[in-house]
Amino acid sequence: KVQGVSGREEKILVSIRLRPLNEKEIAANESADWECINDTTILYRNTLREGSTFPSAYTFGKQMPDRVFRGDCVTRQVYEEGAKEVALSVVSGINSSIFAYGQTSSGKTYTMVGITEYAVSDIFDYIKRHEERACILKFSAIEIYNEIVRDLLSTDNTPLRLRDDPERGPILEKLNEETLRDWGHLKELIAFSEAQRQVGETYLNEKSSRSHQIIRLTSINGVVTFQTMESSAREFLGKGNSATLVASVNFVDLAGSERASQASSAGMRLKEGCHINRSLLTLGTVIRKLSNGRHGHVNYRDSKLTRILQPCLGGNARTAIICTLSPARSHVEQTRNTLLFACCAK
Ligand code: ADP
Ligand code: MG
Repeated sequence: KVQGVSGREEKILVSIRLRPLNEKEIAANESADWECINDTTILYRNTLREGSTFPSAYTFGKQMPDRVFRGDCVTRQVYEEGAKEVALSVVSGINSSIFAYGQTSSGKTYTMVGITEYAVSDIFDYIKRHEERACILKFSAIEIYNEIVRDLLSTDNTPLRLRDDPERGPILEKLNEETLRDWGHLKELIAFSEAQRQVGETYLNEKSSRSHQIIRLTSINGVVTFQTMESSAREFLGKGNSATLVASVNFVDLAGSERASQASSAGMRLKEGCHINRSLLTLGTVIRKLSNGRHGHVNYRDSKLTRILQPCLGGNARTAIICTLSPARSHVEQTRNTLLFACCAK
């Protein structure tokens, strides 16, 4: 449980999103074995033949996710019910993180890109509606691959150094940040960072994403006062006036949660898999501890991912996790693993 700024106990918001069968799965005669029977329950339909080890239908006990989105739910709805509140806390000065967790091809990127766009659109709306406040929205994008952090707004491949500042917390040196001008600018930056992202070829999926991607929006906003009318609002905000609210929201598109062994690849790929597992494992541990309300021994330092996100996880920060699932029979093991992760996060 996370102690919200309002003082009430807030759990991590956990959603499950089941995507429809894709063309490849339909072409392979796959059947969709998972079904959402209501807003909070997902069932495995045993359509397997005799000798199946799976029960005909099962739930995961009382630790159910907050919300289950069926295959025909649009991203707008997933955003509204599974991420909006957490994302928009940024304009109130509250840090937050929104994760997409799931195996490769389950819909993480599809979901996260949509959510990021809806959130920015809502933040722009907020800025328009609050003319009494001056607000700057900054955009940055990084990738964590093999525990190496790279700036996705730069074509320079040099790893970013992560340093701990006693006052400001974890800092990525020389990270590029762009002040968002408008919607078109956002689309441009997302496309640019996508193009910079590393993808590896594996037997599991031709475009298996083996890296974690974080898009971070930092909102700096404050009341426009008499003083600010003299200088420009931008200058005023740049001075870090104490009346300003500064917070970040992180949109985290995690690497595929499948095990390295399942990708049936070797050498370099296995090494990558180990790192991915370490980051995901640490994230899982951190999330579980936060959801249990045990703040004392959270091992943020065990991976780059959790170190970078530490100020935006736990404490007053808000967290939402969207677990994405493929309905296909051939993915049943991974789907179960993802559901177990979702239940542990509650
Ligand atoms: P991941 O990032 O988890 O590897 P993607 O987001 O790339 O997966 O999704 C894999 C494919 O499935 C893409 O072609 C994507 O457009 C499609 N897809 C994912 N989720 C949905 C959905 N909810 N509805 C329709 N198509 C989807
Ligand atoms: Mg992806």
